[in-house]
Amino acid sequence: MSERQSRAAILCVGDELTEGRTLDRHGKFLSELLTELGATVDRISLVPDELDAYRREFLDLFPRVGTVIITGGLGPTSDDLTREAVAEAAQVELEFHEDIWEWLLNRFPHRKISDTNRKQALIPAGFEVIPNEAGTAPGFVGEVDGCTVVALPGPPRELQTMVDRHLRSILGARFGVREEEISWATTFMVPESELEEALQRHGAESLRWGTNTEGYRILLRLRGGDEPARQAFFTRLRGDLGAERIVEGRAEIGEVVLNDLRRTGRRLVCAESCTGGLVAKLVTDVPGSSEGFWGGFVAYSNTAKIGLLGVSEQTLADTGAVSPETAGEMALGALERSGGEAGIAVAITGIAGPEGGTEEKPVGTVWLAVALDGRVLETRHVFLPRDRDRVRRWSAISALLLVREALSEVA
Ligand code: ATP
Repeated sequence: MSERQSRAAILCVGDELTEGRTLDRHGKFLSELLTELGATVDRISLVPDELDAYRREFLDLFPRVGTVIITGGLGPTSDDLTREAVAEAAQVELEFHEDIWEWLLNRFPHRKISDTNRKQALIPAGFEVIPNEAGTAPGFVGEVDGCTVVALPGPPRELQTMVDRHLRSILGARFGVREEEISWATTFMVPESELEEALQRHGAESLRWGTNTEGYRILLRLRGGDEPARQAFFTRLRGDLGAERIVEGRAEIGEVVLNDLRRTGRRLVCAESCTGGLVAKLVTDVPGSSEGFWGGFVAYSNTAKIGLLGVSEQTLADTGAVSPETAGEMALGALERSGGEAGIAVAITGIAGPEGGTEEKPVGTVWLAVALDGRVLETRHVFLPRDRDRVRRWSAISALLLVREALSEVA
């Protein structure tokens, strides 16, 4: 593939973007996709709704890059100019597609489709239609002076649906990458630097990787080599980072824990103090979670810990609310109160701040406990010296990772 063919550019069109009313989301999303497919992203531009602005960009880009993705400007109104701009550059007419018009009329039986919507059935001659199952404006793709030009609508949900359903494979074929040639993995609570070191340690010449950090989770993309080589790399990473902290595919922590619970035939009960129900939320965010989740207790005050979970007053007086002893009693109490229906319990008690820290137990001090089969399997100290929000979120994730570890032992 020539240097030009491997270069790509993204034009995000709309006055709302250039006037600062909307923050661009498509540049990031599409440049990740292009990079994943092996393209070099030359630029991401914000372009106002003016024909001259398109012309300037096209003049500069078409001789230099092999792919241009344009987002926005496909609506029915007169300031939506992407169709006209592309048709002009390709020196073709806009063709009215009767089938798109019919589809639009039938698409929303209760919504009035006015004559101005007819514009959305216009596609530059010779361009291929990209269906829009999530909205009204279809996209299109075609060639202009040896450059592949793709037009997608502006609304993020529509654009992302079209990318997943259609554009990924169109561009994949163009860059000679098939979906099977990419493997994904997800890490939880692995610092970026630790992951990078592990990747360097275990990487092979033929493998390339990219990461996308989303708070406590990093999505890892592996390309190159063949499937067994990527699998072997993944196995080495898992050995290094710990099986509970890395899984294959693009995963959410709630899903992963529920899979473990299903596999081991247990249901989870949680006893939460500083996380205030966050563990329960993460698990129940997943549809069908009742199979693996029994329920949870939010025991914030000492009296709640005593009343709801049966933590002893003596333990609280002797060791404090943030201690391995209290965490252990919380987990056991939760297990007991499920009346034997939950097979595993996790407890979290910590100091989320900003107040309440002491020299001995500073903000970010958290104790976790996991109990199963009537006994505390493990208590664990984690120290997360961060703001309140992150202490809470990361404690919840750490608790779920502890559940994964415990379940791996009973499997
Ligand atoms: P429509 O048929 O809805 O008019 P369109 O293709 O003409 O679609 P625009 O009018 O440019 O798209 O944008 C529609 C809406 O999509 C905008 O009001 C904005 O909320 C959102 N949007 C457009 N571009 C972006 C972007 N780059 N990043 C985030 N949101 C965007």
